[in-house]
Amino acid sequence: MKMANMLVSTLREVPAEAEIDSHKLMLRAGMIRKMASGIYNYMPLGLKVLKNIEEIVRQEMNDAGAQEFLASAILPAELWQESGRWDVYGEEMFRLKDRNNREFCLGPTHEEVFTDMARNEIKSYKQLPVNLYQIQTKYRDERRPRFGIMRSREFIMKDAYSFDKDQEGLDVSFDKMNEAYVKIFNRCGINAKCVEADSGAIGGSNSAEFMVKSEVGEDDVVFCNACDYAANMEKAPSTVDKAEKEEAKELVKTETPNIRTIEELTSFFNTSAKKFAKTLIFNADGKIVAVMVRGDREVNETKVSNDLGGIAQLEMASAEDVFKATNAAIGFAGPIGIKIDELLVDEEVANMYNFIVGANETGFHLENANYGRDFEGKVGDYRNITIGEKCPACGSEITIARGTEVGHIFKLGTKYSETMKATFMDENGKDKPFVMGCYGIGVTRTMASVIEQHHDEYGITWPLALAPYHVSVIPVNIKDEEQMEIAEKLYNELRALGVDALLDNRNERAGVKFKDSELIGIPMRITVGKKIGDGEIEFKLRTKEVEVIRVEDVINKVKEEFKKNNFKL
Ligand code: ATP
Ligand code: MG
Repeated sequence: MKMANMLVSTLREVPAEAEIDSHKLMLRAGMIRKMASGIYNYMPLGLKVLKNIEEIVRQEMNDAGAQEFLASAILPAELWQESGRWDVYGEEMFRLKDRNNREFCLGPTHEEVFTDMARNEIKSYKQLPVNLYQIQTKYRDERRPRFGIMRSREFIMKDAYSFDKDQEGLDVSFDKMNEAYVKIFNRCGINAKCVEADSGAIGGSNSAEFMVKSEVGEDDVVFCNACDYAANMEKAPSTVDKAEKEEAKELVKTETPNIRTIEELTSFFNTSAKKFAKTLIFNADGKIVAVMVRGDREVNETKVSNDLGGIAQLEMASAEDVFKATNAAIGFAGPIGIKIDELLVDEEVANMYNFIVGANETGFHLENANYGRDFEGKVGDYRNITIGEKCPACGSEITIARGTEVGHIFKLGTKYSETMKATFMDENGKDKPFVMGCYGIGVTRTMASVIEQHHDEYGITWPLALAPYHVSVIPVNIKDEEQMEIAEKLYNELRALGVDALLDNRNERAGVKFKDSELIGIPMRITVGKKIGDGEIEFKLRTKEVEVIRVEDVINKVKEEFKKNNFKL
């Protein structure tokens, strides 16, 4: 492409709306532009990168034996009502009506569609296994769209669905996808770790996420220091820190005027947070639920939600609901005499003695509460694991790091095929539900994650396989005939080899052209300047120093780079 005819929308200023590096750089390099909150247009340069990622995904999916499919993005409500998710999916689903008042949604995910397709098209075990995928636009009305295309409301996902005749078949399909994902993320130049995960609203028994370590990640990932164990914090089981046994003392009601938070309470009672149990009140789709954890712990909302049967939306209860439950202002809730639908007690709390809880009376707490004697509830693991706790696999210490989820693979089993009556005929002529798996990659989120890992103070440093263009050829002075002639010749030779080259023939200062090339992240730069009189030009790798080389050597130099990167021309 010749840049004089190209829309180059680079910005020198850092846009105020962007908080993280990838978002800033995508705006500055002119890769994306915002339409509305969480909704973006892909500019020509951004689209080229996106297509490169899609192609890697497509090749690896095809190599793993999956077939490409393209479903509609607009989906009839009936399908979702059949699976039971129309009501459960909640506010994240974009819903709409047609002129005849029929209800539809913009697909946030496609399990129903592919299950429906399988029940219509696959009749016999002889046709199995089948794995179908698509690379398509998804819609989710996220509560907090942010970080540009990292968490957007319209995004591109590669989603695949496997259909097997039995569990063993599913295990094979799942492992194949796992391997394909490792290859995809490697080829994209990002280090994504496979971690145990919660299955969320999609359901099913077994799932793993591909996480990229990142300070701007929205997930907490638990890693073991000694073994391979890694899991999303939502999933990682905590260990019970058993308190030393004490004789139960008598309950004492103590006035604690305006003392509400654990910090205020520990200094007021002059004791450690471990002597308190806090009672948090949630609204779980209309049901009022209280959860008790030790004073220094955090409630794990995923564990709570799963325990309540996978409630889609768990929210802190309103002040009004808290008052109804406790007859007190926020900050004084406790388990004794509380009026709620269900009390969940973290196992650690059930193993504490003589601890302090809210009195359900404004301005009061109770000392010497004991589980079993003073109150009872459903005991379970309802809290987040913390740094230094035991690894669930080997017992060594764990650490926690921030991560971004770029992919998610699930063993769905027969969850959808049973409810939607999607069956095939087995070897004995019997109808059996398909055993399914589903596998997603956030294609647009992967693009942002690659930039998070590949950038410097000057701009993006794309891996060769993803770069919008491989080489930029820059004549320093476009009015100099010799410089232009050689630059154009090199540009044509590179293109003939299959190299995606740019010729920066814009009437701009060389400094501007260098800056743009660096910001956009072109991996190689060839500068044709004054030294061409001596047969010399400059060659520069994006992250290395300038080399002065003979003009006749430059094509080989470029070829070598492709070879080093295992990139076939
Ligand atoms: P998250 O927890 O980040 O919301 P999820 O668990 O809802 O993700 P899945 O339903 O598993 O995501 O979707 C598969 C993949 O799609 C994710 O691994 C992620 O890469 C991508 N994805 C999900 N939501 C978004 C979004 N709002 N914007 C961009 N990519 C997304
Ligand atoms: Mg989500």
